[in-house]
Amino acid sequence: MSGFATHLECSRCGEDFTLEQLAQVCKNDGGPLLVRYDLVRARETLRREAFAARPWTLWRYQELLPMRGDDRVSLGEPITPLDDVPRLGHALGIEKLRVKDEGLLPTGTFKARGAAVGVTRAVELGVRTLALPTAGNAGAAWAAYGARAGIRVIVVMPETTPGVIVQETTAYGAEVYLVPGSIADAGAVVRRACERSGWYDASTLREPYRIEGKKTMGFELAEQLGWRVPDVIVYPTGGGVGLIGMWKAFSELGGIGWLDGKRPRFVAAQAEGCAPIVRAFAEGRDESDPWPDPRTFAAGIRVPKALGDFIVLRALRETNGTAVAVTDADIARAMRVAGEREGMLVCPEGAAALAAAGKLRGDGWIGADDEVVVFNTGTGLLYGESLQGEAPRSLAAGELPGERRSGR
Ligand SMILES: *Cc1c(COP(=O)(O)O)cnc(C)c1O
Ligand SMILES: [Zn+2]
Repeated sequence: MSGFATHLECSRCGEDFTLEQLAQVCKNDGGPLLVRYDLVRARETLRREAFAARPWTLWRYQELLPMRGDDRVSLGEPITPLDDVPRLGHALGIEKLRVKDEGLLPTGTFKARGAAVGVTRAVELGVRTLALPTAGNAGAAWAAYGARAGIRVIVVMPETTPGVIVQETTAYGAEVYLVPGSIADAGAVVRRACERSGWYDASTLREPYRIEGKKTMGFELAEQLGWRVPDVIVYPTGGGVGLIGMWKAFSELGGIGWLDGKRPRFVAAQAEGCAPIVRAFAEGRDESDPWPDPRTFAAGIRVPKALGDFIVLRALRETNGTAVAVTDADIARAMRVAGEREGMLVCPEGAAALAAAGKLRGDGWIGADDEVVVFNTGTGLLYGESLQGEAPRSLAAGELPGERRSGR
């Protein structure tokens, strides 16, 4: 069964493009293309109640996803938990804090959502080889789903990408190339290679379907809350696709009458060593400048200039949201607090969002009573080298745990 997708629309000039052929960006202005749906028809024919009987995977929202046929490239994407985190909430001063934990998806990050839908569409459109630049996790996810689909995947990533993520991507059989610099440098290489070889360029927002997969974070969250939204969503923002995707999801759900007019205030969390959106937001600008020399160990948000920055900034302003930067020390501390207080091994990006929530509570932007959802976008296991805790101690012969010996 095919869904209610009707066409692609340029996010800059508004021109329409067909869904039936391979599309990258708008031919007029290079703007990202967004999938549009027949929401009137959806409103008339879709019933929320009918969802109860559907499997708990992101495909349950199939009518509002862009697939045309019935074949799915899937690794079994579960609905991710929306966890109450009372002890962490207490530490941050936010009593109504929840964490949506994306670390439980295949490949350990929410990038699986974008890759599941993106690779499914690529296969529908006849793609045999695709290439993408990545800060790490998108490469791993597209490599996994590409392997599942039996297509060739070429991944270019910064040489500073965490080692486990590089290894993971090679383990899925992708051709992996490392370059000096950031994802922006990897992107330039991919663009030239795609022009030369005719490969499909699966870069963030240069293909229109990854965002459709990522928007299911918004569908899930609304459904988990009984078809309503929280007061605040804090999201670690790199390319910004997850944030734009959720904003789009809520607008679609509003369009079919499943949500009232309330929208969450969106917060883009970034690292102080790479905060182009935060700077542009503070300066009241519509687009960001490329961040020189981006630095942070939260690799997924080390994105010096996002193609969709103008849409992120629009989403922040339209929802009365904001953008906040935190230091790498704040991020490391939040990782440790989440582990020790809640047993959650959050990734550095998720920890940046937690730290940003704490900072906004501290300056009163988040009220004591606000219902706040923070996205942990991946598992901390991918960042083994950044995990910290009390150092393990070696037991001397005959010594038992708990007996601290002096003079060690
Ligand atoms: C890619 C990534 C992000 C940033 O996501 P965008 O939607 O591109 O802003 C955040 N966290 C992790 C773990 C990531 O891999
Ligand atoms: Zn355009």
